[in-house]
Amino acid sequence: MSKLSETELFDEQLEKAKNLHGEVCGGIVSGTKMAIHAMKELNMDFNQKKNKDLIVFLEIDRCMADAIQAVTGCSLGKRTLKLKNYGKFAATFYKISTGEAIRIASNKNEKSEYPEETIEEKIKRVKNTPSEELFNIQKVKIRIDENELPGRPRDEKFCSICSEQIMDSKQNLVSGKPVCKSCHEGSYYEII
Ligand SMILES: [Zn+2]
Ligand SMILES: [Zn+2]
Repeated sequence: MSKLSETELFDEQLEKAKNLHGEVCGGIVSGTKMAIHAMKELNMDFNQKKNKDLIVFLEIDRCMADAIQAVTGCSLGKRTLKLKNYGKFAATFYKISTGEAIRIASNKNEKSEYPEETIEEKIKRVKNTPSEELFNIQKVKIRIDENELPGRPRDEKFCSICSEQIMDSKQNLVSGKPVCKSCHEGSYYEII
C-alpha cells in the first residue's frame, strides 16, 4: 500500500494525469479526485502496471476521462475503459472479482459556482475537500456481457458482405450469416 499522505497521493496522481492530458485543467483535477476515491474504496493499489480487476465506465469524453485513465491505468486497448457517452461528468468503477461498483458524478456546475477560481485554487480546494462533498457517490450494480470483458477473445467472425474480421460478437446475423455493423446499419464513413 502507498505510504503517501492523502495530499501527497493527490499530487502524485495529478502529475500522472497531467502527463497524459498535456496540462492540468479543471476536468483533470476533478477526474483525479474521482479516480483516487474509487480506487481506495475498492482497495486497489496505485501505480500498478496492470490492473486486470477494474473496469471503468466513462460517461463523457472530455478532460476528466484522461485523468481517470491515468490514475486507474484502465484503457481502451486493455478493454478496461468503456465509453457510455451520456455527456455527463460521471464514471463508474467496477471491481470484476467482487462485483462491487461505485458510480461517481459531479454534483455541481463548477463554472457558475466558482467563476473566479484559478486552476491553482481549484487544485487546492479539490485536494482538501472530501469526495463526498464534491460528488454524488452511489453504490451500483453492473451488468456486463462476457464479450466486453478483458482477456482472450471469445468470438471472432468474418463479415459475409465486406469480408472484414469482427471481434467480440459485434456482428448481426442476417439469414444466419454474420454481417458487420457498418454493412448492416450504415457507417460513419463513406468510401470515395
Ligand atoms: Zn483539459
Ligand atoms: Zn461488413
